[in-house]
Amino acid sequence: MNVSPSLVLANATIPAGARGASPSSILISSAGHILDIGDISASAEIPTIDLGGRLVTPAFVDMHQHLDKSFTLADAPNPDGTLLGAIEAFRSYSKGLTRERICERAQATLDRCVSMGTGAIRTHANLDHEMGLKSVEAMCELRAANSHRLELQVVAFATSSAARGEIALARQLLERAVAAGADCIGGTPNLAPDPTAYIDMLLDVAERHGLPVDLHVDETLDPQARCFDHLVEQTRRRRMGGRVVGSHVCSLSAVPDDDARRSIDAAVQAGVAVCTLPAANLFLQGRDRRQLVPRGLTRVGDMIDAGVLVATASDNIRDAFVPVGSGDVVEMARWTILAAHLLTDAADRAYRMITDIPATIMGMDGRGSLRVGAKADLVISGCANVEDLIAGGAGTRAVLHNGQLVAGAL
Ligand SMILES: [Zn+2]
Repeated sequence: MNVSPSLVLANATIPAGARGASPSSILISSAGHILDIGDISASAEIPTIDLGGRLVTPAFVDMHQHLDKSFTLADAPNPDGTLLGAIEAFRSYSKGLTRERICERAQATLDRCVSMGTGAIRTHANLDHEMGLKSVEAMCELRAANSHRLELQVVAFATSSAARGEIALARQLLERAVAAGADCIGGTPNLAPDPTAYIDMLLDVAERHGLPVDLHVDETLDPQARCFDHLVEQTRRRRMGGRVVGSHVCSLSAVPDDDARRSIDAAVQAGVAVCTLPAANLFLQGRDRRQLVPRGLTRVGDMIDAGVLVATASDNIRDAFVPVGSGDVVEMARWTILAAHLLTDAADRAYRMITDIPATIMGMDGRGSLRVGAKADLVISGCANVEDLIAGGAGTRAVLHNGQLVAGAL
């Protein structure tokens, strides 16, 4: 690490819990790390910017997006508002997509997210026989082109089309995606003819290449859907704890409390993390109900209480899966409080679900937190404290990545 100091952010406000805040200064190294936080005396040799008491938080981590789909709603509307309707709408539309078009649109979404204060995104890139490697290659290209302003992780997302075909063919596709540069293995096992064999195959590929796993599991309110349990059990057996994520896990909210408790305890023991995706769940789940329409989310509060690492994220933005969204992941934190009925320490829990927790899950030690030694990925806003940020949004903000200004003005 280059330890020579290059910038002081003076007169900053640092969060201390949800409602606390303390005045402080931040010393940033020329390599883009935080060298010191506290009472830093001014030096004529080091440029100093007076923040005038503005709040400094870590840049946000949006650990589940689909950059290859965002802003396609007008071209591929969802006819019935269901998950299967969305899958079919995008599948049909994507036949004519070129890698260039995917890149162009994804870059526009990424620009938005950076301007909102997102410093890291994990994006799922569609992978099947119709799309081929187009999407994975496009996302890898974006990862390189934007490395100075954002950390991008690319998940090789074997789609429902891949899941419904022969398992050996899906495996071949995943191997090709890994060779093309994918960072993580993904898929939708619930839609495979043999979900458990399919999960095993996904984990085999990940183990073989030493990659993490992030699966769309149990994105349904059918209580019989229990792919999460098999994922947890296999993670335990293979000692892959800390590298496996179950995204969605909606059906856990449809099973009896005792069953759910056993699943959650097993996830804690195995070290499986969960990403809840309130926008997609609120929009797509429960379309068959006329009364007491469910929220569709997993048991977020129970999981946090038990010790599961739970993140929240955007998922889709203005496409067949989620017709709304601004790219501001703070909105997702806010919606998670409402949709998941968070109560105790709600603002602080929601804040951590878009900062240090997803950074930990994504293996990005040194991002998502405000501490000495961490990367200076920072959001500077006019908020009073964390509760103000989560409840009302950051408003006008300046964004730093590795200590460099990438959006807004200081
Ligand atoms: Zn998703």
